[in-house]
Amino acid sequence: MEVFKDIIGLRQQLHTHRMKEQTIGLVPTMGYLHQGHIELITRSKQQTEITVCSIFVNPIQFNSKEDLDNYPKSEEKDLLLLEQLNVSYVFYPSVEVMYPSKAETSIRFKNMADILEGEWRPGHFVGVGLVVAKLLNIVQPDKTYFGQKDLQQLILVKKMVADLNINSEIVSVPIVREASGLALSSRNARLTDNQKEAASSIFKCLTAAKEEILKSGGVLAAKQIALKILNNEKEVLTEYVEIVSMDNFEIVDKYTVDNTAICVAASIGNVRLIDNVVV
Ligand code: AMP
Repeated sequence: MEVFKDIIGLRQQLHTHRMKEQTIGLVPTMGYLHQGHIELITRSKQQTEITVCSIFVNPIQFNSKEDLDNYPKSEEKDLLLLEQLNVSYVFYPSVEVMYPSKAETSIRFKNMADILEGEWRPGHFVGVGLVVAKLLNIVQPDKTYFGQKDLQQLILVKKMVADLNINSEIVSVPIVREASGLALSSRNARLTDNQKEAASSIFKCLTAAKEEILKSGGVLAAKQIALKILNNEKEVLTEYVEIVSMDNFEIVDKYTVDNTAICVAASIGNVRLIDNVVV
């Protein structure tokens, strides 16, 4: 495994693989790696010959300085894990390498980015769009791996890649969960044991809402059931429970299509968590 902190070195190295017609997979992450990231890496290793994992905490996708400052980091542990996983290359750039000057260009999504995460984290997807476009241009991977955990991001990136004719297949990977149902997240590291238990109500509410939709087709009833479960946990502060179509990421008020997902965002203490299930 080789770690690149610069763009030129990585590009030159990847060029040698492209010359040999080897396929390249990219797994973009913000580090503090867990089993969810490992799942993405495993897929990439199964499906491509060369796996690049990038670790970059992208400052411009954080809409609060406190959230950015509190984002957990573990460079040494992450690199050790990636070495054990036999990842070919790690791209570990600094902010200066990724943003040598303030970018003039931004990717602005239309309606899809104005709801849910876009509404609660203004500017978040503008930052995501730019960093993902930059990573795709730097690595030029045949396949790029994203988790369904960040469902809105996954759907937006798929659309961006199609809209801009970027030559990379976006592969989506199902959510990896703890035994309690809590979706793995780097942010979970900042939860106490009690908070973790409270956080497991997020998956419980999603499961109950899904059951309701499958039973009655009632989207409103499903939302109410989910909210009731979340509101029963004193520590959980709900931001949204929404039911969306996965085709266009529009909020639906009727269950008519199979391609539907229930999405939740909630805070516990100062830790913000998101999760979803597909119906
Ligand atoms: P992050 O480091 O949180 O930005 O996540 C990097 C990638 O890993 C994103 O595509 C996430 O959707 C994905 N990911 C994070 N947590 C999980 C999880 N529990 N299961 C599957 N994928 C995940």
